[in-house]
Amino acid sequence: MQLRYNYRVYPTSGQREALGRAFGCARVVFNDALRARQEAWELGLPYICDGDLSKQVITEAKATPQRAWLGEVSAVVLQQALADLNVAYRNFFASLSGKRKGRKVAAPRFRSRKDNRQAIRFTANARFRVLDNGRLRLPKIGDLAVRWSRALPAAPSSVTVVMDAAGRYFASFVVQAADEPLPPADAEVGIDLGLTHFTVLSDGTKVAAPRFLRKAARKLRRLQQALSRKQRGSNNRKKAVVTVAKAHARVADTRRDWQHKLSTEIIRDNQAVYVEDLCVTGLARTRLAKSVHDAGWSQFVAMLEYKAARYGRTFAKIHRFAPTSQRCSVCGRLDGPKPLNVRSWTCPCGAVHDRDVNAATNVLAAGRAESLNACGAQVRPAPVPAPRREAGIRPHAAPCSTRSTEAIPVLQGGENVNATGTP
Ligand SMILES: [Zn+2]
Repeated sequence: MQLRYNYRVYPTSGQREALGRAFGCARVVFNDALRARQEAWELGLPYICDGDLSKQVITEAKATPQRAWLGEVSAVVLQQALADLNVAYRNFFASLSGKRKGRKVAAPRFRSRKDNRQAIRFTANARFRVLDNGRLRLPKIGDLAVRWSRALPAAPSSVTVVMDAAGRYFASFVVQAADEPLPPADAEVGIDLGLTHFTVLSDGTKVAAPRFLRKAARKLRRLQQALSRKQRGSNNRKKAVVTVAKAHARVADTRRDWQHKLSTEIIRDNQAVYVEDLCVTGLARTRLAKSVHDAGWSQFVAMLEYKAARYGRTFAKIHRFAPTSQRCSVCGRLDGPKPLNVRSWTCPCGAVHDRDVNAATNVLAAGRAESLNACGAQVRPAPVPAPRREAGIRPHAAPCSTRSTEAIPVLQGGENVNATGTP
């Protein structure tokens, strides 16, 4: 399984400048290529194939005075920017034709200097190296200081250098990690995700929702207000933007750490894990939006999924139309919908149910049934947590709607167009 390992890196000011140049060049190549394909499409010309595009926006562009500076960065970085665009296009077309399941994928959009995340990728071809002194050597950037919070399990196949909105730099290595099946466990568990409790397990365990964002809300509000008082375009405003981004980054980091611990614990203790497949995007458009985003269920479920694959556990999502909170887990009777404030109820069969534990028990039962149908095999293929944000895919805002797909690719310029095209 391919896994990502992230480490904080601390570039010197010279290296930051070189990285900035590389981010810029990768962005220009990406945008030039996107523009070329869009123009070809508007003129009714055939789709420019990957090889021709590479020649046009890298090899030939380098020979022109306007793009001569592309030669200052590693060619691999530029090729990888194009590879991102090609993946984004393939996903978009597959989504249009219905070959790709799940939420709709929008057409690739232009990258901007103002994007919250700037990234470049080096593959093995680029000959990046982790040196004996612990520094990361990147071609035409230099030897970067890395904080090795843990050891890499194997030689990485690529490294992505990321700068986030808080101005922090990270090296994200893709490593082919061997599966590490854990000794078999006896227990199986169904999980009910909720707002009052983050998770309720079918064995009765309730984990309170930590509500990181809510707790940090007052501080965030204060920082946001301070930011809004700063004059547009001023240096103080730029500083305030970074301060706000840092505060948000801290919330996200804390939440992720906490979820890692919980998901590892659940996977270690159970041989099979079943979760209700929530329509998070649907819920996030309701009054509960802030709480839903704060909970970060999707991230948590994704963690369960890949850890299950890695540690040899069964994992499945249960279809969300199964009315888990209405059905008595003892006799199977459907007792009709119950308002959210009903925390426990008594079934006519005599069973007294805690609402959430009952739901989790039903998830477990549904999960077991589904696994049996699949002859004990894993119900869904395990995903790889690695690429995802690399491809420049931005899903449509309303994935839960049943809007029909447009037959013609609509290429949107978006508001992020980098009009000048200079880094
Ligand atoms: Zn009953």
